[in-house]
Amino acid sequence: MYCINCGVKLADTEKACPLCGTVPFHPDIPRVQTDRLYPENCLPVTQLSRLGALIVVSTAFLLSMLIPLLCDLQLSSGVTWSGYVIGALLLAYEVCVLPFWFKKPNPVIFVPCGFVMAGLYLLYINLATGGDWFLSFAFPVVGFAGVLVTTVVTLARYVHRGWLYIFGGAAIAAGAFAPVMEFLLNLTFGITHGLVWSFYPLTALVLLGAMLIFLAICRPARESMERKFFI
Ligand SMILES: [Zn+2]
Repeated sequence: MYCINCGVKLADTEKACPLCGTVPFHPDIPRVQTDRLYPENCLPVTQLSRLGALIVVSTAFLLSMLIPLLCDLQLSSGVTWSGYVIGALLLAYEVCVLPFWFKKPNPVIFVPCGFVMAGLYLLYINLATGGDWFLSFAFPVVGFAGVLVTTVVTLARYVHRGWLYIFGGAAIAAGAFAPVMEFLLNLTFGITHGLVWSFYPLTALVLLGAMLIFLAICRPARESMERKFFI
């Protein structure tokens, strides 16, 4: 007989599909004791292919870092442009691949690590290009974003209630940071016309945050919204 879920061939005595775990049932076949069609101990296919995919992707990342590095060393006898390539790939690897090496990746650890990596990459670009914008602009902006996103992720993970308060508060905090960001931008790059654009994100984000917190406080409004949007 065959598994009704995944179609794999089953021994007539099989109590569960060895591939997907579905309980098989055939009304005409009586259960008699025969040998299993598959060995008892084999790695589930999903786990195996996941590990294989991780190894392939990691090798691809490693190669795409090594090749530019070797070319760069050969052509300019030092690390010049390949540093940017390697930094960007390391950052992409940390964000997109590294968490999948773990069975249950904890975003409370990976999210701040990602921001630290992004900060270090920007610092590298700043130093390599002889820029003067890291300490006064990139560091505070990335730092603020990192603290804010990490706080939201941590609260969302460990406090399983009050989503509206968490996201409302985060929206207001992000809005409040907009003028600070414009100020730092103007300071760093010598712009002298004062604050121009930051009040638009400030207004929009504070309104959004206030609306979320209003919904959190006012139960009838929340229920009517839930009915309207089928949440
Ligand atoms: Zn199956």
